[in-house]
Formats: sequence, structure tokens, C-alpha cells
Amino acid sequence: MADDCVFCKIAQGTIPTKPFYEDDEFVAFQDMHPQAPVHVLLIPRTHYRTILEIEDVGLLGRAMKAIKQVAIGLGVAEDGFRTVLNTGDNGGQTVYHVHWHILGGRFMQWPPG
Ligand code: AMP
Ligand code: ZN
Repeated sequence: MADDCVFCKIAQGTIPTKPFYEDDEFVAFQDMHPQAPVHVLLIPRTHYRTILEIEDVGLLGRAMKAIKQVAIGLGVAEDGFRTVLNTGDNGGQTVYHVHWHILGGRFMQWPPG
């Protein structure tokens, strides 16, 4: 737990959320400023500032598996969805607790902004 980390507070229940998915290691919840009809964030319960701090490649694989579960559960798997991991300032990261965006429910343009 990092002091003053909003996603640590969500992971630990200090800030209540209705999780779309949770297990021992991850929580998925609604993004507060959704950019698509489905916009969910998946976070590890452990605080890592960015993906650069994660040494456990197994965790990365389990995150992908959880993302798949979220997409299926929210009904966007068949039509397609986008998974985004922003890293650092140039990557557009604003919350420094690593998280994956899961976006769906509309066609996603490419390239991103
Ligand atoms: P990023 O720019 O990749 O760091 O994404 C941070 C995301 O977290 C943004 O899409 C915000 O809308 C979202 N966000 C920030 N604070 C909260 C919060 N308390 N609850 C839900 N989503 C949040
Ligand atoms: Zn945190």
C-alpha cells in the first residue's frame, strides 16, 4: 500500500467500488471518466507504480487472463475490445499504480491520440 494512492484505496476497499471482477491478486472497476460504453480498469492489489517495476511475468499473464474474464463478463469479447497500458508521462499515465484499461462497446480508432 502506497500512501495517498487512490488505486490502493480501491483495492483495499477504503474507497468503495462495485468490482466487475476480483480475485486474490486483481480488482476490476469502472473508470470514473469513461471513454467508451465499457471502460473498466484492472489493477493488481499490490502497488507497482508502472509496469517497469513488475518482475513477475506470471502476474502479467494472470492480468491478461483476468482481462479476458472481464471482457467476457461485460459482453464485449465477441465484438472486440481494446486493452491499454499507459506507462509514464509520454505514455499518458496519470495514476501511478499500474492499471490496464479495458475499453469496448464501440469501434476503436487507430492510431490513438
Ligand atoms: P491513466 O491516464 O492511464 O493513468 O489512467 C488513469 C485512469 O484512472 C483515468 O481513465 C481516470 O479516469 C481513472 N481514474 C482516476 N481516479 C479514479 C477513481 N477514483 N475511480 C475510477 N477511475 C479513476
Ligand atoms: Zn497503489
